[in-house]
Amino acid sequence: MARSVKAEPGVDPASVATDAAVAASLVSTTTTAAAAAAAPATRPPPRKDWADVYTRISAWRRHHGAPVDEMGCGFSRPKTQDAKHHRYEVLTSLQLSSQTKDPVTWAAMQALRAEPGGCTPQAIVAMDPARLDNLIGKVGFHRRKTVYLQQTAQILLDQYDGDIPDSLEGLMALPGCGPKMSYLALSSAWGKTIGIGVDTHVHRISERLGWTMKPKTPEDTRHQLEAWLPLDRWVDINPMLVGFGQIQCLPIGPRCESCPVRDACPRVGVPRRSAKATARTVKMADTYSMADLAKDEAVKQET
Ligand code: SF4
Repeated sequence: MARSVKAEPGVDPASVATDAAVAASLVSTTTTAAAAAAAPATRPPPRKDWADVYTRISAWRRHHGAPVDEMGCGFSRPKTQDAKHHRYEVLTSLQLSSQTKDPVTWAAMQALRAEPGGCTPQAIVAMDPARLDNLIGKVGFHRRKTVYLQQTAQILLDQYDGDIPDSLEGLMALPGCGPKMSYLALSSAWGKTIGIGVDTHVHRISERLGWTMKPKTPEDTRHQLEAWLPLDRWVDINPMLVGFGQIQCLPIGPRCESCPVRDACPRVGVPRRSAKATARTVKMADTYSMADLAKDEAVKQET
């Protein structure tokens, strides 16, 4: 999905354009021939109008920026022109991002970049754990992620010359890296797309639009989508729906009245909840997220 890249305050728009070009060169959105061979469509789309709905959401998103566009893990513009360093930052921001809002992940990444050694595996390994925990203290599960970040950095230095693995197996072997994180890292850092990155927004909105049928987990959603969604959409669907979910199709109280696909959505008018029902749903969502995180790690341990 083509999106305009907005300049931050104090940033020369021309340099942003340059950064966007760097992003385009570093982050290929071309699905690989290997993926095409490995995962052909195996069932018809669940809705005949899916392509029209997809196109309309994509067009709408071009004019409606969301936090993921500037602060998302893999699809925001690189902060370095060194490809290897960029790949490490993509992986690190993905590791920080689970159970954490994009602006919080973004702030933690900025804090790591501001350290004397920058956000590099060498600096993360050398950092006092208490200092690292303090720098990422607002992200979810920060204590566990402090351990994961330092273990990961050591593995990357020992086994990958400071780079990140370029295979799904290599990524999923890293501490705290489950399927979603690994597919997104492979796609946005290496330009290899062999699976769809499904987070809570892609999971929720795909079901609301009728693109999946009663998926129990994000992994279930991924399998259902990959069975019919054309490969050339596997990269774009993540930032498109994540942003759509952040600003329009909200988890609770989606803005159906102004939705660009309200005429085609089977769940239009999902009711706004009472405060009591909302609190119950949030509690369920938390439980679901924790279970999903555990599953992510269980899947990793099985492989
Ligand atoms: S109509 Fe409502 S539920 Fe359907 S996609 Fe739009 S915001 Fe989401």
